[in-house]
Amino acid sequence: MKIYKFGGASVKDAAGVRNVASIIAKEKNNDVLVVISAMGKSTNALETLVNAAFKNDKSASSILKDFIESHNQLLDELFEENSFIWTNEVRNLFLELECLIDNENLKDDYDFLYDQIVSFGELISTRIVSAYLLSQNIQNQWLDARNFIITDSRYRDAKVQWEETERVVTNRLKPLAAKNLIITQGFIGKGESGETTTLGREGSDYSAAIFGKLLGAESVTIWKDVAGVMNADPKKFDNTVLISELSYNDAIELAYYGASVIHPKTIQPLKAANIPLYVKSFLNIDQPGTKVSEFSKPLSVACKIHKSNQLMLEISTKDFNFIVEEHLKQIFEALSNFKVRAHIMQNSAIHFRCVVDDKENKHLPLVNYLTEMGLNINVIENLELLSIYQPEAISTEEVSKFGKIIMQQNMGNAAHFVVSK
Ligand code: ASP
Ligand code: MG
Repeated sequence: MKIYKFGGASVKDAAGVRNVASIIAKEKNNDVLVVISAMGKSTNALETLVNAAFKNDKSASSILKDFIESHNQLLDELFEENSFIWTNEVRNLFLELECLIDNENLKDDYDFLYDQIVSFGELISTRIVSAYLLSQNIQNQWLDARNFIITDSRYRDAKVQWEETERVVTNRLKPLAAKNLIITQGFIGKGESGETTTLGREGSDYSAAIFGKLLGAESVTIWKDVAGVMNADPKKFDNTVLISELSYNDAIELAYYGASVIHPKTIQPLKAANIPLYVKSFLNIDQPGTKVSEFSKPLSVACKIHKSNQLMLEISTKDFNFIVEEHLKQIFEALSNFKVRAHIMQNSAIHFRCVVDDKENKHLPLVNYLTEMGLNINVIENLELLSIYQPEAISTEEVSKFGKIIMQQNMGNAAHFVVSK
């Protein structure tokens, strides 16, 4: 069996849904499980809705109205006659969402509320695609991914409980997937008390990989609006090329340092089960795209990845004494406890420096804690990270175009430059 994953861009409008249906219809023997994201930018819209609902802001009702209206328009375009036969389930989801927003009891915990609401993007999009396929005589079974992706209750960043997930996928999903074309959601799961959880933004690729691994799929294909994995973002670099083959390890590195075509968590489960991943264009389905597998050759082309929104924490002792093991232990424990991921680190006699994503002030509790522990923390903001694979392919001059280099690190065939604008 194969896993197909379609992202928001592929189902952003009626033409998109029709195109996705035509790709699915090419698979004759029902041997596909299809994972679909929320339509277009609807996850962003739902995020705005959560913010408003949480603050009891009046704008919530108009945001909700627009959200429903845009999906209703799509329904009108996709289903001309007897629309209710096909769209009852979707309309019921609109109502459920409205009731959720009205429910004052849910508004204590922002992250919890977020997962309960934002998950509707995927629930609705999959109902629409499933109904459209049925209306075109393409039999399929819509399944609720929350029955299979079992997680802890860390809302907005839930961790998969692999044992339990494997058990239900094997016992419940596998027999169904062997017989039917399955349409299900990415991104969402079920927490410890049966409540909805989400796996983190852009997490649908990861869902596809989880299903792929646990169903022993022959391959996973991520259908995108780009030709495959490029060696650099064409919007930021000249002369970019498509990478036709990539090893799991190189793909993990590139995704981790910000190549946004693949979600970083996607590769690990596929590598463990040796399942190839294809990244292909839903606009040009005959093009081969990129294949990620246990490919042993080194990258044949230099890759350049640029990531903005970075900040550096420069840590020293109050009296500028040496940074010793004791301090490093404190720093690493604090990074772990406050869930701040340092992706570049360096230390000298009196400094420890690390670069982290600048995300909604997530670093502030860490900074406060380390300050209380008697350390000096200097926070340097507005930084960017440039990661180059095959560093000989880029000159310092080219890097300097992005700003002043304030930290550099070479590791294996990669070089990382932290630049300040
Ligand atoms: N709809 C979710 C998001 O936009 C998940 C995904 O697209 O992968 O973040
Ligand atoms: Mg999305």
